[in-house]
Amino acid sequence: MIYLDNNATTEIDPRVVDVMLDVLRSGPCNASSQHAVGRAARLRIDEAIDVIGSAIDSPLDQPGGPRLIFTSGGTESNNLALTGLAEPDAPIVLSRIEHPSVIAVAEHLAAQGREIRWLDVDSTGVAEIDSLADLIQTGDRPAGLVSLMSANNETGVIQPIEQAAQICRDLGVTFHVDATQSIGKLPISFRTLGASAVTMSAHKFHGPTGIGGLWLDGGVKLRPLLHGGEQQLESRPGTEPVPLICGMATALQLATSELPEIQPLLGSLRDRLEQGLRSAHPHLVVHGGWSEEDEAARAPRLPNTTCLSFLGADRQSMLMALDFAGVACSSGSACSSGSSPPSHVLLAMGLPAEQVQSALRFGVSKFSTEKKIDSAIERISNCYKRLTQKRAVEN
Ligand code: PLP
Repeated sequence: MIYLDNNATTEIDPRVVDVMLDVLRSGPCNASSQHAVGRAARLRIDEAIDVIGSAIDSPLDQPGGPRLIFTSGGTESNNLALTGLAEPDAPIVLSRIEHPSVIAVAEHLAAQGREIRWLDVDSTGVAEIDSLADLIQTGDRPAGLVSLMSANNETGVIQPIEQAAQICRDLGVTFHVDATQSIGKLPISFRTLGASAVTMSAHKFHGPTGIGGLWLDGGVKLRPLLHGGEQQLESRPGTEPVPLICGMATALQLATSELPEIQPLLGSLRDRLEQGLRSAHPHLVVHGGWSEEDEAARAPRLPNTTCLSFLGADRQSMLMALDFAGVACSSGSACSSGSSPPSHVLLAMGLPAEQVQSALRFGVSKFSTEKKIDSAIERISNCYKRLTQKRAVEN
């Protein structure tokens, strides 16, 4: 199988597995226990937090400074942020292209009477930042929280986070960034980002599934989702998963230290895939304002991601044919790929129905190779030809 679904999840780095096995084999690991075994587990967590703090350029050991809450991943971090950051009745602003783990929480809150204000995106998939200040100030009450993803999981389009942070700072609004897709693909400094809270998820950067974090700037208050023990200063009670935490720290350290080599590698593999497919099928549409003639019209994208419309083919049929041909990709975010609704992201971009119906997402990783990409191009191209010929015959 040629795995090109790295925005859904990535292959764990063997060096991360080694660290985790070491911790798993080291014995019991309850960091709250008041004995030497518990203290050893606590030490491992403290060391992991130091490693994470350096990797994200935000020391996490200063009293009153930024802190990190470990969660089960991006979904939990987003739930925690949306439900716990703003006053319970304050309006929330979010873009129409957020991940379902943000949108579904917002819809849940809306059903309970919470006001949600939606930030539109343009046809290239970039949030319309010029309307953010008005959206925050609209109505009887200013918004208490803005949530914006750093890069979209389906199109890879990078969002204007710095400008949003500035607007939120000027208007005194809490700003949450879902950085799940950019960590390990783009340089990121949490210290200079200007956000109040940032979501991350380890399995997106070659770490284990089941662990992520919500970074909080110094002084940012949070209401917990869970209630129980005193772990993580009661922000997220429950025995800390020490092997997962150590795995996440190692993965993050590798992802950030190796980024100068990995980022151009991802870009060249993704471009190879796009160019190979487009030279075989020039009418394929690359989303994100991509245009051969006009580079300036292109939206900035994650280096590893391409979202393409295979006009004349149905995305679910393509997905199945590719699976059979040994290529793993996706027809949207992994959470909704088992179902048929068309992508809310492409719909929000106002794309024609035919483009939405035929769109597939490919995401390369550091484990993709030119050989695998070339083989994928051939397989994808063959599937596409077969499906469009079949459709022509049927019509
Ligand atoms: N946010 C974004 C942008 C994502 O792409 C994803 C996963 O695809 C999530 C959040 C959810 O992360 P997790 O799978 O760790 O719950």
